[in-house]
Amino acid sequence: TVGCVAVDGNGNLASATSTGGLVNKMVGRIGDTPVIGAGTYADTRCAVSATGKGEAIIRGTVARDVAALMEFKGLSLEEAATCVVHERTPKGTVGLVAVSAKGEVAMPFNTTGMFRACATEDGYSEISIWPAAT
Ligand code: ASP
Repeated sequence: TVGCVAVDGNGNLASATSTGGLVNKMVGRIGDTPVIGAGTYADTRCAVSATGKGEAIIRGTVARDVAALMEFKGLSLEEAATCVVHERTPKGTVGLVAVSAKGEVAMPFNTTGMFRACATEDGYSEISIWPAAT
């Protein structure tokens, strides 16, 4: 996956996701990436781009569920994204990058690692693969 989420200074959100699909996929398979609400989603609260096993991401409506938990349960972006990845999708299947209208960033994953990066206009940046040391 190459997934990107962005928010501008006015809180406008965007999400874009691209993929080559999974190795040995069935001919004609369409994964989660182009399915709005599964691999890609943005509304006025957050923008989300997911990676991993498309079948799990579609079943879990992963990207939309992050926004829905914020909308209907009042969770923060971090809480919503963590809930979806760690409580609502099978271990080893999913990761996502997400940003809220306020500029909060969440990049949880339930796989061994996930290539990810984040940059802000004030010069902050981070690049990681493995989970943060605890
Ligand atoms: N989510 C993609 C798919 O299942 C694979 C990936 O790029 O992570 O098609």
